[in-house]
Amino acid sequence: MGMGIGMSERPEGTPKILVIDDEGDVGDIIVSTAQSMNMGCTATTNAADFLKALVPDVTLIMMDLAMPETDGIELLRLLGQKQCKAGIVLMSGFDRRVLETAEQLGRSLGLSAVAQLQKPFRLPELESILRNHARNKTPEPSAQRLPVAIPDQDMRRAVERSEFVLFYQPQVEISTSRVVGLEGLVRWQHPERGMVFPDSFIKRLESLELIDELGWIVIKRGLSEIGQFVRRDGTPLTVSINASAQSLHDLEFPDKVQALVKQRAVPPHHIVLEITESSLIRELSNALDILSRLRMKGMQLSIDDFGTGYAMMQQLRYVPATELKIDKTFVQEMQSKIDARVVVQKTIELGHELGMRVLAEGVETEEQLEFLRAHQCDLVQGYLISRPLPVPKLSEWLANSPYAA
Ligand code: C2E
Ligand code: CA
Ligand code: CA
Repeated sequence: MGMGIGMSERPEGTPKILVIDDEGDVGDIIVSTAQSMNMGCTATTNAADFLKALVPDVTLIMMDLAMPETDGIELLRLLGQKQCKAGIVLMSGFDRRVLETAEQLGRSLGLSAVAQLQKPFRLPELESILRNHARNKTPEPSAQRLPVAIPDQDMRRAVERSEFVLFYQPQVEISTSRVVGLEGLVRWQHPERGMVFPDSFIKRLESLELIDELGWIVIKRGLSEIGQFVRRDGTPLTVSINASAQSLHDLEFPDKVQALVKQRAVPPHHIVLEITESSLIRELSNALDILSRLRMKGMQLSIDDFGTGYAMMQQLRYVPATELKIDKTFVQEMQSKIDARVVVQKTIELGHELGMRVLAEGVETEEQLEFLRAHQCDLVQGYLISRPLPVPKLSEWLANSPYAA
């Protein structure tokens, strides 16, 4: 777990906390607790002071939802508009459901809600939140995971020269403990910087309108590599490809994919196209047209990051997907939050009722696997089984792992 990095003497990574609560003594308690833990902390009691104190290096915001003069929800929206990057802890004397709903709202605004603190809270609860925050702020050893600034011309060249490779992460059927599929995750093999992760370039490619081209590079690669990956008993594996939201704009997308699939002689049902819930919501009418035609052509469809879009439940029954993919944030919060457990359990039930198989991603522990098994989840993917692997490592894994027998 711990990376063995000391928690003191970190002048740069020192967390900066900003509190807004109309009850001044709540702010005082948080300030003194944070200071005793070596963290900088400012407390405010109204929106004007709060916004003044909201400098870019604030890493954690703790806010009361119910304040007489200021609407906590309104403030959340404002933070969303400012594209605030700080973690957010919601505090309230309301019951847990209100906090969960506000947290969900925060997420839909692109904010990262890190915890909830129900009032009145006990000191150990507060300390635990602050401690976790400090730990997560500890700089990561692999600098490449942090978004890096890359000039436009580098991006264009990368697409022109196809400097991208796919890493593959196994997907295992829980009931048989056998690998049944692989998700292809793109990596950029930068000539000088080495391996660059998608967080650093997907958004950039979108804004440069090159994301479509990346999509085709990835699909072609996936199709040409999939044939060599089989289980030791000869069973072929499916390959899941992340389709960008952009593909849901292109009414010719199904025909183009079908042509490639035919050309490479890959059975269409070995292909799973992953579409994120949020892009589905945005593009619903086009999406239904495109997705139905992909299904009619035999390809499988997976709804990725399920649960993060929160408006989807209603429309889901119209989407002809074969798989529902529970977002890893829910899987990882299963242990600590009742509501995450309920979301996971209900998503599994819902998926099954709609005739889809359900895959949980981001599974890191045996406990998570056991919970998912107990609730009849079909498939798992995550570090517990394997990290995403480059092709040679994947071949090794297929030759040796008990999951690939
Ligand atoms: P995603 O589709 O939700 O992919 C899952 C991400 O979770 C991957 O990050 C994977 O490495 C990571 N992951 C897998 N298992 C675990 C685990 O047990 N614990 C934790 N903490 N993380 C785990 P990655 O590879 O950095 O990809 C990030 C995102 O970039 C993907 O999220 C996907 O949205 C996007 N992406 C990746 N490849 C492509 C692509 O070919 N095309 C497009 N358009 N987007 C892609
Ligand atoms: Ca995915
Ligand atoms: Ca996902």
